[in-house]
Amino acid sequence: MTGFKLLIPNLAVFFNYFRLMELIRDFSLKPYNTFGIDVSAELAFKIETIEELQGVFRQRQPPYFILGGGSNVLLTRSVKELVLLIDIQGVEVVSETAESVEVAVGAGVGWHDFVLWALAQNYGGIENLSLIPGKTGAAPMQNIGAYGVEIRSILTKVEAVKITTGELRTFSNAECQFGYRESIFKHQLKDQFCIAKVYFQLTKPPHQVSLNYQPVIDWMSENGVTDPTIQQVSAAVIAIRQSKLPDPKLIGNSGSFFKNPELSAADFAVLKKKFPQVPSYPLDDGRVKVPAGWLIDQAGWKGYRKDDAGVHAKQALVLVNYGEATGSEILALAQEIQASVAARYGVLLQREVNVY
Ligand code: FAD
Ligand code: NAP
Repeated sequence: MTGFKLLIPNLAVFFNYFRLMELIRDFSLKPYNTFGIDVSAELAFKIETIEELQGVFRQRQPPYFILGGGSNVLLTRSVKELVLLIDIQGVEVVSETAESVEVAVGAGVGWHDFVLWALAQNYGGIENLSLIPGKTGAAPMQNIGAYGVEIRSILTKVEAVKITTGELRTFSNAECQFGYRESIFKHQLKDQFCIAKVYFQLTKPPHQVSLNYQPVIDWMSENGVTDPTIQQVSAAVIAIRQSKLPDPKLIGNSGSFFKNPELSAADFAVLKKKFPQVPSYPLDDGRVKVPAGWLIDQAGWKGYRKDDAGVHAKQALVLVNYGEATGSEILALAQEIQASVAARYGVLLQREVNVY
C-alpha cells in the first residue's frame, strides 16, 4: 500500500480532473488476463476516448500498465503502476474507392468483433485473422498473424499518444517496422506510446482469398467448397481454431507462448540432419521457419502438467493454467521447456507472450 499512498498528492488533482472516468481501486487482475492469473492492482482507469488518454498522460508521468484484452500477457507480480484499460470504441469508413475502403478502428474494439463487422459488410483482407482474442489497439504491437496473413499487409497507419507528453502521433505502415510478431512498439518505442486508433485498407468484391495453410485447404475440400468466399474462409479458420486451441474462458492461456524459430539455412541443415522429420517452411530471405510446437511436442512436453501449470494436450506451443497456477509457475515451466529444447535441438525459443 506504500506505493499507493505516495501517489495520493498527484491523484487528488487527477481524480478531480477525471471525475467522470471510470475508476477501479484495489482489485484482482484475474478477469483482465486470459491466463487467469490472480495478481492485484492498486488503481485503474477505463479509457474511452483519445482525449481522456491525452489528458491522463499530460497530468501524470509514467509508469503505466496498458491493458487491452490481456490475451498476450503473463503476470508474475502485483501491479503498482496505474493501469489503463483501453476501451476506445468506434469503427468508421474514412475513405472509399471502387476496389477498397479505409477503415478507422478504435483501440478498444474487440479484434474479432471488427472481423465480424468487416465480413458483414463483405470487406475482405482480415478473414484469416478470425477469432484472435484481444483488442484492435494491441494488434499492431506484435503484428498479429494467422493462417498466412499478418496485419501489416492491410494496415495503413496507426494513431498513438506519446506517454510523456500526450502528443498524438501518426505512424505509417513502414514506420511501424513490422516483422514476424514484432513492431517498433515492442522495441525502440517500447512503453513510449499508447495506440489509440488503427487504420486498415480492406477490399471490396471480387475478393482474392489467401489459402496457403493445409488445414484451411482440407476444410474447404471436406465441406465441398471450391471457390471460397471470405465468409467461408472465416468459418474454416474459426472451426479449426475451436478444434485445437483451448478456450481461455475454460482453460487459462495466452495462445502461442513462444515464437516459431527462424533459422539460418546452415543451422537448419544441421537440425534436419539430426531430425529428418522436422517440418519446415522456407522464408523469402533464405532462412527457414521451424514450428516451435513440433520441437516442444517431440521433446516430450505435450500434455505435461505440474500442479496447475501445463502444456496443452492438443497444441504444445500453448501453455495453460488449469486454475490456480501463478505467473511464476507458468514462467518456470516455460524456462524448463526452453532449456530442454535448447539441449535437444540447439535452438533457443523466444517468448511471444509479454511477461510482467
Ligand atoms: P494485451 O494482452 O492486453 O496486451 C499485449 C501487450 O500490448 C502488452 O504489453 C500491453 O501493454 C500492450 N498493449 C495493449 N494495448 C495497447 C495499446 N492500445 N497501446 C500500446 N500498447 C498496448 N496472436 C496472434 O498474433 N495470432 C494468433 O493467431 C493468436 N491466437 C491466439 C489465440 C488464443 C487462444 C490466445 C489467448 C491468444 C492468441 N494470440 C494470437 C495472442 C493475442 O491474442 C494477440 O497478440 C492480441 O493482439 C493481444 O491483444 P490484447 O488486447 O489482449 O493485448
Ligand atoms: P499449425 O497449422 O499446426 O502449423 C504449425 C506452424 O507451422 C504454424 O505456427 C505456422 O507458422 C507454420 N505453418 C503451417 N503451415 C504453413 C504454411 N503453409 N506456410 C508457412 N508456415 C506454415 O499451427 P497452429 O498452431 O494450429 O496455428 C495456426 C495459425 O494460427 C498459425 O498461423 C499460428 O501462427 C496462428 N496462431 C497463433 C497463436 C498466437 O498466439 N500467436 C495462437 C494460435 C494460433 P506461423 O505461426 O508463422 O503461421
